This record gives sequence, structure tokens and C-alpha cells, in this order.
Amino acid sequence: MEQHDVMPGGGLDTPERLRDFTARLPGVIFQFYRGRDGHMRFPYLAGSGTGLPGIEPDQLMHDALHMLDRLDEEDYPRLMTAIERSARWQIPIATKFRLRLFNGRSRWIALRAQPQPSEHGVLWHGMMIDITEQMIEEARLRRLSDTDALTGLANRRKLITRLNEETSLCNRHGTPLSLMLLDLDHFKRINDTWGHLQGDQVLVELAKLSREVLREEDTMGRLGGEEFAIVLPLTPLIRCQPLAERLRRLIAEHDFGIAPGEVTVSIGLAEYRLGEPRDTLIERADASLYAAKRQGRNRVIA
Ligand code: GH3
Ligand code: MG
Ligand code: MG
Repeated sequence: MEQHDVMPGGGLDTPERLRDFTARLPGVIFQFYRGRDGHMRFPYLAGSGTGLPGIEPDQLMHDALHMLDRLDEEDYPRLMTAIERSARWQIPIATKFRLRLFNGRSRWIALRAQPQPSEHGVLWHGMMIDITEQMIEEARLRRLSDTDALTGLANRRKLITRLNEETSLCNRHGTPLSLMLLDLDHFKRINDTWGHLQGDQVLVELAKLSREVLREEDTMGRLGGEEFAIVLPLTPLIRCQPLAERLRRLIAEHDFGIAPGEVTVSIGLAEYRLGEPRDTLIERADASLYAAKRQGRNRVIA
């Protein structure tokens, strides 16, 4: 920028310069108005982000629906609730939503707005900014913090979170849920005989094999070491048992690249009892697993 471009007060003392300035902002500043009759519009919109393909700022001045129609289905009710709450309690709006573009893609938008009561409705002053890149990065980090680095399965933290979610769904809807605990038999021996790296490879292969047997909605995770857990929503014990048996046999018969029949697993099962604490379910599955070990390994016990 040339020295003479920087003027006292930012040089924004004329309407033209102010318009030029707002048009260059990396986002959108706006006024949003909702009348008592519920009609919504943007009396004022400025910023480089107003140039979203397929959304004409002129139309939005008369009717905000041209934009609200493009909101992601999940986000629409959330934004409407935020607007309603802001109007009723005179508190700021701070939310984010996805906006569908004409090319089938969508962008994440963060919105901040301050309400001001007016005679026939509420007027908000606010800004919107595109946060798509941050949201993608956030999702990547979340995935990373939920994942076991060796096997790519859910890690312990993620698995416990899933179990919490699923048990509370069971309690709300009375639906069945089963938990499978799976532990490799004599894994120390495998490591000692074939080396730790080969042992790691067995864990990776086992994870891959198991996922092929499971449904999309089942979550398999690595609890630690050579112990895994599988959360099976909408599955009573009677349906979990044959699945566990199939998995056990599949592993026992699979060629892991070491001596045949060397890799086997013991599996303990438990079905969730409505109202019981999450840890009690884990303890019951663990007791079954322990029994499977005691009874000779390479077996399923419920
Ligand atoms: P059991 O049938 O009673 O379960 O016998 P086990 O040898 O499998 O059980 P133990 O708990 O005595 O030993 C578990 C072994 O698993 C010891 C450890 O070296 C090995 N292990 C734990 N985590 C890993 C890992 O990430 N990679 C490899 N290669 N080995 C692991
Ligand atoms: Mg073991
Ligand atoms: Mg173990």
C-alpha cells in the first residue's frame, strides 16, 4: 500500500470509501431483521463473501429465505432455535452451519450476531465468516485422537465414548446391546517366537479380518495391547453368539503368515442389562473372557 493511501481515520470518511472498504472484507457483515410476522430479511449485507454463487444479495434484502433454503437440513432447525432464543432473551447468536452451494459442495459458515429490539421486530448486527478449512482440520484431528495408530481401529477413549452413547440409547429406547471382548491367546509366545514386528502385523491383520465380519454400525476398538472390544448395537446375546463364533473360527483358520493354527482368540460376551452402569457390562464381558481362557482358550463364552 502506498504511503498516501493510509489516511487519517483509515480514509473511510466518505460513503464511497466506506463501501469500498466493506466490499473488501474477508467475510460478510450484515443486518438481519425479523418482523413480528416472522418475515426475515437482510437489510444490509457487505463483504467479499456476499459473492456466493447462486445467492443474490439483492434478493436477500427482501427475503432471507433465499439463503435459509440453502442451509444443511441438520443445521436449519439449530439456527432457527438460536435466532428464536436470541430474540426472546436478547442474547447474542454464536453458531455455525453448512451452506449448500450450487455445485453440490457445501461450506461451513460461522455466524456471530448481536440483537437489538426494534418497534416491529428484532434487528441483528453481525458477521459471517467461512470456516470450512478449520472444520476439515478439526475433523482430521478428531479422527486422529480417536484412532489406534497401529490398527486404525477406534482407540480405548473412542470406544468408551461409543459405549456410553449406546448404553444411554438402550436405556432410553429399551433396545438390546452386546459387548464382545477379544484377547489373543498366548500372544507373548507369538512375539517371543516370531518377533515383535511380526506380532504387530498379526494385530493389524486381525483388525482387518474382524472388520469384514462386522456391520457398519458395530464399533471395534483396541482396548490396549492384544485386547480388543466390539460394541454391537441392536444386538441381543443370542445373535451376538454365532457372530463371535464365526469370528473366532475365521481367525483360527486364517493364514497370518506364521505357523498355521498359531493365532487364536478367546472371546467373552455380555448383553447390556437396562439401567446397569457401563463398567458392570465391561466387567461381565471380562469375566466371560477370563472363563474362556481358563477353559482352554480359542473359544467363546457368554
Ligand atoms: P493369554 O492367552 O493368557 O492372553 O496369554 P498372552 O501371552 O496373550 O497374555 P499376556 O497378557 O501374558 O501377554 C500379552 C502380550 O502381548 C505381552 C506383550 O508383549 C504383547 N503385546 C502387547 N501389546 C503389543 C503390541 O502392540 N505389539 C506386539 N507385538 N505385542 C504386544
Ligand atoms: Mg492374550
Ligand atoms: Mg491380554
